[in-house]
Amino acid sequence: MIKLKNKQQLELMKEAGRITGEVLYAAGERIREGITTKELDEFIREFIERHGARPTFLGYGGFPGSACISVNEQVIHGIPSDKVILKDGDIVKIDVGAEYKGFTGDSACTFPVGNVSREAKKLIEVTRESFYRGIANAVPGKRVGDIGYGIESYVEENGFSVVRAYVGHGVGHDLHEDPEIPNYGVPGRGVRLCQGMTIAVEPMVNIGGHQVKVLDDKWTVVTADGSLSAHYEHSVAITDDGPLLLTKVC
Ligand code: MG
Ligand code: MG
Repeated sequence: MIKLKNKQQLELMKEAGRITGEVLYAAGERIREGITTKELDEFIREFIERHGARPTFLGYGGFPGSACISVNEQVIHGIPSDKVILKDGDIVKIDVGAEYKGFTGDSACTFPVGNVSREAKKLIEVTRESFYRGIANAVPGKRVGDIGYGIESYVEENGFSVVRAYVGHGVGHDLHEDPEIPNYGVPGRGVRLCQGMTIAVEPMVNIGGHQVKVLDDKWTVVTADGSLSAHYEHSVAITDDGPLLLTKVC
């Protein structure tokens, strides 16, 4: 069931989104060679709590961290660890949510560590741009398939592939609500978008094939062929004035 948000609920979503966006930005500023993903996770938890919110991911389905932090061929759901030390040339994805007064944001970004390869840079840029190609269609009257097609066609034009096994989703009261928002689709197909919907649009893009697998830790999703992967996500409100990015702070 799709839970539409009224004006008052949207205001709370904006607050939750702002905290989510701010913590993601602040965590990105701390990324450097030598820091562990556990240290980043602790920073994220403290930051969210200091802002009167709760890390949505902590304990969600039993997840042990406050953020998912995934490095290089890891696509999503990486578990923060003091054994994972970032090094020059890595790309690191942070995916995070802050819950505030019963509503949550959900946002992710891929950050380069030091000097990364030209191909890694292109992957990060194409993934980010594909998000904007997708949400250009996030307006009342369009359909979920229009968003997915916008993402998929841009990614494939650039020679990369879109992960199909994991998708975007409604967001708000819960981290994952209806409807699903695939990063692929057919124009004019799928659920019709309308004012009051809040969705997390989150392209996951691989340099190689789209196939992924889950590691023995039961969380970490990696590319099946070991190629690099990038992720970019914002929580977006569908409004009559166009898409409103709830988690974008800069
Ligand atoms: Mg997320
Ligand atoms: Mg999400």
